[in-house]
Amino acid sequence: MPSQREDCLFCSIIREGTYVRKEKGFVAIKDINPQAAVHLLVIPERHVDSFREIGEFPARETKRMLQFVAETAREVGLTDYKVQVNVGPSAGQTVFHLHWHILGAVPHPAEASTHAETAVVEL
Ligand code: 5GP
Ligand code: ZN
Repeated sequence: MPSQREDCLFCSIIREGTYVRKEKGFVAIKDINPQAAVHLLVIPERHVDSFREIGEFPARETKRMLQFVAETAREVGLTDYKVQVNVGPSAGQTVFHLHWHILGAVPHPAEASTHAETAVVEL
């Protein structure tokens, strides 16, 4: 396993193993405080504090990480969504282990209620 930190929340979540999706080197989890109907976090197992340290990933791992973001969105049924990375406290970063937010609307419009924009979808 790549570098981990004992005192890091996301490193512990990775060790605990409750995921929406997992692939070698990456996990996707549900955000505990969702800001959209679907709000997932993609977290690399390799601990770096933020996106600023993206250069610490080997090029192939960086590509796999981006593919993992896209595949995760597709697998939960999203076609349109936002991918967000907060870099530094004044940009809203609160957990200092690189992660990618996936924010999307209800995956299956036919099943969406009229309050879909505020509903939280069970994945
Ligand atoms: P940031 O603000 O650093 O960009 O994103 C951190 C995210 O992690 C926030 O959206 C927050 O709701 C989420 N988060 C914080 N603690 C936990 C936790 O213990 N479990 C999960 N699943 N998400 C968490
Ligand atoms: Zn970590």
